[in-house]
Amino acid sequence: MEKMKFQAESKQLLNLMINSIYSNKDIFLREIISNASDAIDKYHYDVLMSDSKLKDRNYEIYISVDKKNRVLTISDNGIGMTKNELIENLGTIAKSGSKEFLEKLAQLKDSNNIDIIGQFGVGFYSAFMVAKKIQVITRSYKDEKGYIFESDGEDSYTIDEFETENFGTKVNIYLKDDSKEENYSKYLEQYELEDLVKKYSDYIRYPIKMEVTVSKQDLDKDGKPIENKYHDEKEIKTLNSMIPLWKKNKKEVTEQELNEFYKNKFYDFEDPLLALNINVEGMMSYKSLIFIPSHAPYDLYSENYEKGLTLYVKGVFIKDKVKELVPDYLKFIKGLVDSDDLSLNISREILQQTAQLRRIKDSIESKVITELKKLKDNDFDKYNKFFDLYGSHLKYGIYTSYGSKKDELQDLLIYKSLNNQEKSISLKEYVDKMQKDQKYIYYAAGSTNEAINLMPQIDIFKKKGYDVLFLTQPVDEFCFMMMKDYNGKEFKSITNEEIDILNDEEKKKIEDLNNQNKELLDKIKNSLKDKVDDVIISSKLTTAPVCLSNKEGLTLEMENTLNNMPGNDEKHKAIKVLEINPNHELFKNLSTLSSDEDINFYSNLLYDQAMLIQGFQIKDPENFSKLLTELMLKSLNK
Ligand code: ADP
Ligand code: MG
Repeated sequence: MEKMKFQAESKQLLNLMINSIYSNKDIFLREIISNASDAIDKYHYDVLMSDSKLKDRNYEIYISVDKKNRVLTISDNGIGMTKNELIENLGTIAKSGSKEFLEKLAQLKDSNNIDIIGQFGVGFYSAFMVAKKIQVITRSYKDEKGYIFESDGEDSYTIDEFETENFGTKVNIYLKDDSKEENYSKYLEQYELEDLVKKYSDYIRYPIKMEVTVSKQDLDKDGKPIENKYHDEKEIKTLNSMIPLWKKNKKEVTEQELNEFYKNKFYDFEDPLLALNINVEGMMSYKSLIFIPSHAPYDLYSENYEKGLTLYVKGVFIKDKVKELVPDYLKFIKGLVDSDDLSLNISREILQQTAQLRRIKDSIESKVITELKKLKDNDFDKYNKFFDLYGSHLKYGIYTSYGSKKDELQDLLIYKSLNNQEKSISLKEYVDKMQKDQKYIYYAAGSTNEAINLMPQIDIFKKKGYDVLFLTQPVDEFCFMMMKDYNGKEFKSITNEEIDILNDEEKKKIEDLNNQNKELLDKIKNSLKDKVDDVIISSKLTTAPVCLSNKEGLTLEMENTLNNMPGNDEKHKAIKVLEINPNHELFKNLSTLSSDEDINFYSNLLYDQAMLIQGFQIKDPENFSKLLTELMLKSLNK
């Protein structure tokens, strides 16, 4: 028997594993099983390359338990290891990048967040999280002799020779004793092991078998089952399903299968709105199943919501909710990615790994967008449902990317509009139907479609037949602000003072009216000097006496949104203009007022009224009520 020391770095990793406060010790089984699967892969590869001197075997991974001695055994009939390979592979970490991993791990341990282990193949040593001793009994097909590696995970291991006919590897894990905090005995239980294999290793390509006890109905002499009579029987069961849905030929996978898979895996009771089966070959090959839930995840808007996709590497489960695979604005999607081009090794540099993940993310993003465009063209009702649920996220995508996502996302946006109150339209549909002389894409922002329909400014658009997009989400205008235009047509709010839908004659008339009433307008402006920047005769109003507009820049609605965000009170200001309807009775009467006091009184009432008509809160309701009461008294006393 030879006694040897672990290489320094291996010792460090062993220490981390043994003293691991990592909560998910379960993953050791996944690691040992995937090593077994790799070993079979390697043997099979050699078979393929050996001009038929070597033969295929009935490949399998076998799990057995010895409860009395608390030993869990995982065997494989793969390539096995020579003595040198044992020393190389289990006595040292011969791979580059492992040091960086250790450093990262040590850092994270301080912050109590070493769940990072789950993201990597941590390998063989992870078994020391649950083992007080490990034996690896192995024979390489290239070697006459077999070897037994044994270690308690301290600083040394032993290697012994032994005689055997068969090649392959058997890993005996002597489980630690149970403590108050940890139950290690569970790794000897049939159901626990079945569960763990299902959860972490379901899609390993080779059968993972175990002897299980099943309850069978007793039979009478004629072989008929006897009611309520059962006995236990032992049988060998394959625990994993071996072929994952996403690895099946795409054409053979039905929508129903995808839906069932989604409901099972993501604990939903409803079919998804959309299921994508993605298969990408090339620089970075991967397969992916992506689902859009037909109802928003209940915690989507909570701070604790975790976006992400489940990551598999070569069919081995790595981690749930890998956020690097999903852009923020698609955080509502669910699904998984499986790539053979990623490595399970801890030796991979973390950064390199994330660069590869980013490539997959970009690819998934563009697939989802393409699919949504198709849905919009082919099944608008369904798309409409999608947009009701998640449309605001797409808008945030444009906004938070400072417009760089505009090209990809702009054709996914749909809106209700003045002329399309039932069925939403896209920006393209709006532009296609613009009037000959129409320069801008007009929109109105408000809390609801009803409120927008009642905005005084909208009258002129109704009269002239121009369409106006209805924006009812706070993000809408900010999204337009980032987009600036759609195919060269700029966006303009109907609350903008300058709209360009008057003909020359109409323009001239308004200009004249403004000049004629300059004195009165100035007086009103003066009484409202800390509220508005200008007071003008309006070209837009038909029935309402007044309305509030803004000059270029922030709109009233944006001012309102920004100021209502926490910590932002009153910081943001739109440049406001009070517009007065020259055809309204009220205006005619205003022109007759002579005292400054009266003008002041009516101006302030008009301003508050304009605020109210447009659905804003007035700053000083008490004053408004005072003015109104006064007015009522005046008219009652008349
Ligand atoms: P990784 O699997 O990422 O290479 P591990 O720590 O899991 O790292 O395993 C280290 C090495 O030990 C493997 O690369 C492999 O060469 C060898 N090994 C582990 N388990 C087996 C096995 N069951 N059969 C053959 N070789 C094995
Ligand atoms: Mg491994």
